[in-house]
Amino acid sequence: MTDVIVIGCGAAGLAALRKLHDAGLRVLGLEASNRIGGRVCTVNFGDKAIDIGAAWCHGEKDNKVFELANPLGLLGRPEPDTNWFLLSNGDQVPEENALGILKALDTEIEKADKYGKQSISECIRNAAKTNEALTKDSKLSESFIEWFERNNHLGGQDDPKKGKSLRGLVEHKPCEGEPLLHWKGRGYKSILDILLNRYPDPSKAINVQIELNKEVEHIQWGSTEPGYNIDNPPVQITCTDGTKYAAASCIVTLSVGVLKERHEKLFFPPLPAEKIKTIENLQMCGLDKIYIEFEKPWWPKTPGKFTILWRDEDKALFSGEDAWVSEIFGLWTVDCQPNVLLAWIYGKGAEAMEKQSLENVKTGVQKLFANVLKNFEVSPIKNLIRSQWLSNPLTRGSYAYRSVATEEDGGSAAILSEPLDRGDRFPTICFAGEATSHEQHNAVHGAVESGFREAERLIKNFKMYQNYFYQSFTSQSPSFQIKK
Ligand SMILES: Cc1cc2nc3c(=O)[nH]c(=O)nc-3n(C[C@H](O)[C@H](O)[C@H](O)COP(=O)(O)OP(=O)(O)OC[C@H]3O[C@@H](n4cnc5c(N)ncnc54)[C@H](O)[C@@H]3O)c2cc1C
Repeated sequence: MTDVIVIGCGAAGLAALRKLHDAGLRVLGLEASNRIGGRVCTVNFGDKAIDIGAAWCHGEKDNKVFELANPLGLLGRPEPDTNWFLLSNGDQVPEENALGILKALDTEIEKADKYGKQSISECIRNAAKTNEALTKDSKLSESFIEWFERNNHLGGQDDPKKGKSLRGLVEHKPCEGEPLLHWKGRGYKSILDILLNRYPDPSKAINVQIELNKEVEHIQWGSTEPGYNIDNPPVQITCTDGTKYAAASCIVTLSVGVLKERHEKLFFPPLPAEKIKTIENLQMCGLDKIYIEFEKPWWPKTPGKFTILWRDEDKALFSGEDAWVSEIFGLWTVDCQPNVLLAWIYGKGAEAMEKQSLENVKTGVQKLFANVLKNFEVSPIKNLIRSQWLSNPLTRGSYAYRSVATEEDGGSAAILSEPLDRGDRFPTICFAGEATSHEQHNAVHGAVESGFREAERLIKNFKMYQNYFYQSFTSQSPSFQIKK
């Protein structure tokens, strides 16, 4: 029998599997998709690899990803970039005007009360009525505010309670150091190789069993009978293909988006009320990427960023099926990919883009270029690829954030991370994943930290309860293999 089953093999799941395996526990990873990595998804595109999901290691200090990857020489520092602030009619906004507005927005957020129940969006929209730097050209400020909301994934456009809360800025601690470390063209998947110990020497990969295409449908954890044996496993897991597994404990690493949709069917007995409230109140942001390849770069400088500032009259050019195009808020050059640009799209725009065919996305992007980049000599698109994180049933969004509803009604990463037991204090169901990281949610380093945290919790408990269990700490899995 297995000691611990890890559900989901993204960064958090793999981190947990690695630590549990190294401690000598018998572990099994169950992954619904046909690949490991989850929201870390590196694919070949253009000259090298690109990241459809996470791309940068954000910061250095107290960052598990940095600690693991930097000594191996895998991380690169970005060069200083050039920023073009473009109105949606193609006119350029002078840099000093742009920087003045951005500074005013930052100052307003900095001085706002972080312990109230306000959203960040509400804070800057109120400031726009009084702050001189913002009232001076209110139409331009409005375009910047909209850009700021998209660029910082502030949410809450339809329902203010779902907006990102100011309090979240205190709960989330960015790691000091360079915020945009890249993977030198190798992609964020490198962290998966490190966690499985298959980099730099693949022959040293750890012997841990991971089963792909195993979508967990049901987790039964309610038996109150003491002991751990084949007839009375603390956790019984059923997958959509009917396969059943049993273990002493399990670590659930599913995203908040997936938990929102499935927790009722997934857990028996149901989750405690406080956990459910937390899952309902935390929100998932919807952020997508569109990578566009050209024969050669046509933009004046690399690295560079086009910041797109929409005006209502230009949005009107993109109506009906094309409306999503007017939600693209930025175009960035891509590290180690000289011929590629990355277009960012967020929220409702991302949702609508995901429903379009790839051909329609290409047509929409071409229309964007014809209007917003009309003062540049844009060459034809060679190739295009996009992400679809919202419609992906295994993610249902990009990453979690604290909302106004969380501040009003309760819920936090800490509550989400609390384990469940069967009355015997042994953690039967543990929770990891980016959203459970107390101070580093929304990033891969937070996911890795959470996987290590829950593995350590279980290792400690297995040691403490060793004699209570039927078997443990004895054998290793036979060999490292990813079963299809
Ligand atoms: C567009 C985008 C850009 C990002 N950029 C960055 C960045 O630059 N830097 C950064 O640090 N972070 C970034 N992130 C966030 C980062 O990707 C996530 O925080 C992190 O990868 C989450 O890891 P996780 O293990 O918690 O969850 P996941 O990666 O979601 O892993 C959960 C796993 O569970 C699996 N699963 C789901 N349902 C089931 C089921 N029923 N049964 C079994 N398995 C199941 C999923 O397939 C998945 O593999 C970005 C995310 C997105 C989407």
